[in-house]
Amino acid sequence: MTAHLFDLPAIPAIPVTGESAAYPIGRIFCVGRNYAAHAAEMGHEVDREAPFYFTKSPANAILGGASIPYPPGTDDFHHEMELALAIGKPLFRATPERARDAVYAYGCALDMTRRDLQIRERTRQRPWDLGKDVENSAVFAPLTRAADWAPGDGKRIYLEVNGEVRQDATLAEMIWKVDEIVSHLSGFYHLRPGDLILTGTPAGVGPVVAGDAIAGGIDGLCPVALMLGAAE
Ligand code: MN
Repeated sequence: MTAHLFDLPAIPAIPVTGESAAYPIGRIFCVGRNYAAHAAEMGHEVDREAPFYFTKSPANAILGGASIPYPPGTDDFHHEMELALAIGKPLFRATPERARDAVYAYGCALDMTRRDLQIRERTRQRPWDLGKDVENSAVFAPLTRAADWAPGDGKRIYLEVNGEVRQDATLAEMIWKVDEIVSHLSGFYHLRPGDLILTGTPAGVGPVVAGDAIAGGIDGLCPVALMLGAAE
């Protein structure tokens, strides 16, 4: 094998409850505006034609429980609590029925966002990368295998900042369900193990500041936590 000129920082693998091996992070896909009340608070009506996506670099992923510095270039860093799913089998152009079978595990995740930059770029009809593909912005809690947990409508999804509830909804509010998202995305990508999909955030997103403790959960899954430190 050819030697490398330098080493890159390792991308963390996500622990899986009940497994001795962890789930390596390949690609990170994120669904936009998948809860109507969140779309409304962002000034949009829901597009029921098809889900849309953005991506985060795996290099920007971290495990829950970390403390991160307040990121550069923003005065409006926001929390977004999300259900993440992890693909466990190759999948291409799959029906929703086949799509569910390819989901290996689920977990709590945060899609941390430089909201001011996302909105500025959106307004200018530019890509969202500066707002969304932020260092340390894809935060993953340990995963739970699909054999042990399913995304039922009644399950609560919530997020607290310093113990105060900011986001509080149920998975019933998801516009595009897990099977539909995986099926749709498989029409554009050869999905494979290592692919993670964040399925969108409910209403109640808002800013966090240095010193804040973020804690998110979904009924039956391992919670996700994040501490925000001072800017560098
Ligand atoms: Mn999001």
